[in-house]
Amino acid sequence: MTDPLRVLILGGTAQARMLVEQLASEPAVAPILSLAGRTKNPLLPAGACRIGGFGGIAGLTAYLRAHAIDLVIDATHPFAERMSVHAEAACRETRVPLALFTRQPWTPTESDPWNEVATAQAAALAIGPIPRRVFLTIGRLQLPAFEAAPHHHYLIRTIDTPEPALKLPDYRLLLARGPFSLEDEIRLMQVEKIDVLVTKNSGGEATYAKIEAARRLSIPVILMRPPASTNAPIFYDLDAICAFIIEAAHQRASEPRGV
Ligand code: NAP
Repeated sequence: MTDPLRVLILGGTAQARMLVEQLASEPAVAPILSLAGRTKNPLLPAGACRIGGFGGIAGLTAYLRAHAIDLVIDATHPFAERMSVHAEAACRETRVPLALFTRQPWTPTESDPWNEVATAQAAALAIGPIPRRVFLTIGRLQLPAFEAAPHHHYLIRTIDTPEPALKLPDYRLLLARGPFSLEDEIRLMQVEKIDVLVTKNSGGEATYAKIEAARRLSIPVILMRPPASTNAPIFYDLDAICAFIIEAAHQRASEPRGV
């Protein structure tokens, strides 16, 4: 019997977790989930998991060799750009195949007042000179960009407390982990008298309710575009990526040994 296919899954997303869970009953595949270690209490699936950065492209290259990884699945968040660039470079260097498991970006309807921007700095600028009540849901890391627009009131929703503390004069922190229901998002935006939603085009369904809520309340949305994707094959569907991985495992099992 051949060894199972060793698959490194770069995670930090619900999708990566679901992929590991779905592969758990597949004997031909040995998944290893990798997390950056940013979230204090991450939800971990059963099975092999490693936590922490690899140490750049060189570190990941060494890891792929040392652990005899057969396939890398980049299932990081669409905005985890650095990890994706490193994965592509390390896989090219080691000739380990790479595939992306990600979400379809959201697309506006004809009547959506979306302002799509490339960076957090551009998003902060796009809120404008008049003080607004802003619902800001872009994660923790790029929040300091909004210190350049201190004249607004911010309702900031993150999983963990931003560190170091934000230098914003007027904000309220809401610590919560999605998914959130449409009803709750509508209520929150109404109670907080939100004028504008600032978020990332993260795609998928888990965090879409805020977009729909803003649409129903005619609240304008400033949306950060996802960075450009790689040349690796892209999968949006859990069953399709699982089938791809299992096919790779069977293909390897059918190859003559010692070649
Ligand atoms: P990033 O800018 O692309 O990555 C920064 C560094 O963090 C990487 O160079 C790498 O360190 C380490 N890293 C990132 N993902 C890793 C993983 N899955 N396993 C091991 N190391 C990893 O990423 P980020 O935007 O800081 O996001 C960090 C993590 O949070 C990602 O795993 C991502 O999936 C998740 N996440 C991000 C967002 C977002 O909006 N950016 C939202 C939700 C979840 P080394 O160079 O030392 O290897």
